[in-house]
Amino acid sequence: MIERFSPPATLPVMHIDTITSPELEWQQEALCAQTGADFFFPEPGSSVREAKRICGMCPIRAACLAYALDNDERFGVWGGLSEKERLELRRVSR
Ligand code: SF4
Repeated sequence: MIERFSPPATLPVMHIDTITSPELEWQQEALCAQTGADFFFPEPGSSVREAKRICGMCPIRAACLAYALDNDERFGVWGGLSEKERLELRRVSR
């Protein structure tokens, strides 16, 4: 069983979905699942430094970033990259 956090910008309160797809089993090692989603979906203009620090220690960082890019995740820090950094990565990858 995996908890997935959706950004508060898209939902009125923190929302947790249960994902059981075997394709997402890598998320069981997610360090952010142990810290909570607040660091990863900060208010606009807030620092993402702590989220990036946690991502830097996460054993599934590459898979997380690939998932975010493949699924066009628009909000929050995924795989150690902010929303703006993922947009820039997409732009230069075209
Ligand atoms: S890389 Fe960061 S956002 Fe992705 S699973 Fe790990 S801690 Fe969470």
